[in-house]
Amino acid sequence: MNQQLTDRFGRAIEYVRLSVTDRCDLRCFYCMPKGYSDFEAPDHWLTFDEIERVIGAFARLGTRRVRVTGGEPLVRKDLPQLTARLAALPGIKDLSLSTNATRLAKHAVDLHAAGIRRINVSLDSLDAARFKDITQGKLDKVLAGLMAAKAAGFSPIKINMVVMKGINEDEVEAMVDFCIEHGFTLRFIETMPMGNTGRNATDHYVDLQTVKARLAKRYELLPGVMPGGGPARYVRVAGTDLRIGFITPISQHFCETCNRVRLSVDGTLYMCLGQEHKLELRPLLRAGCTDAELETAIRTAIDLKPERHEFREKPDQVVRFMSMTGG
Ligand code: SAM
Ligand code: SF4
Repeated sequence: MNQQLTDRFGRAIEYVRLSVTDRCDLRCFYCMPKGYSDFEAPDHWLTFDEIERVIGAFARLGTRRVRVTGGEPLVRKDLPQLTARLAALPGIKDLSLSTNATRLAKHAVDLHAAGIRRINVSLDSLDAARFKDITQGKLDKVLAGLMAAKAAGFSPIKINMVVMKGINEDEVEAMVDFCIEHGFTLRFIETMPMGNTGRNATDHYVDLQTVKARLAKRYELLPGVMPGGGPARYVRVAGTDLRIGFITPISQHFCETCNRVRLSVDGTLYMCLGQEHKLELRPLLRAGCTDAELETAIRTAIDLKPERHEFREKPDQVVRFMSMTGG
């Protein structure tokens, strides 16, 4: 392996979040504007060959973990073919997927066979009407996808719930009970001011410290850890297998331990969710760069990684919304 990627602040970068599309079959109001259709043109999408080259270069530079995301990754045709290729790359040890699960019932078995082991599913409500209000989608499809994922053997399956005041804050306990019943891990997320959609949602911002305090009245919460836990701070619910993670980019940021970069569908490497620092790899790839040139470009990009996001100080800064970067 070449020398491990380390940024200017001494953080080892060993995790890539790979967006395979900026499209989505849902329209979660905090993520993508209703009726939005100004997506990347297909000829700008990195091809599977190009993605394999970029992730191969990251793997040579020490990346061990890749999470496939989007937009909704399952709207990209033949996704299992891509993940099987990525799983086979020397050095890649952990391949995971973030999905809204609407198409998971159909693809769960193929994805598991194609090397994905860990899966995160967005689920903000267990009430069908409310789910529709938030996402414009159908809850039963997501639940069917989740059950198919369980049957296919994914482990862990993590539920990601963006907790929002006046929208779904009252469902926190119901979601805990649902996850205990099904053996899922649960993560609560604070709204982030990404694009106008995210900024509108910050009217509903909930400081997750208050959610934790509320849960502590009903459940005994013990200190917990989760392998590959990333930015979530975990607790365990006594007497159950449930772990609950709190992802608190706003109330308690975790930038000092950030180990990741994001590759968007058009081949742009974004260094931080909350900043504009980026480097475009597609022009290089399409100009026929060598593997060495690709690795140099990645190192140059890592040198641009900022120390931290400024969601609090500059909430209007990020114009792209979450699905464009790859959440
Ligand atoms: N479509 C997949 C999904 O929903 O899981 C993957 C991509 S989605 C952009 C990844 C995560 O970003 C989801 O858990 C979603 O809830 C979260 N997200 C999107 N916009 C957000 C925002 N403004 N604030 C906080 N989380 C956001
Ligand atoms: Fe689609 Fe995921 Fe964004 Fe919802 S959060 S609109 S499912 S990309």
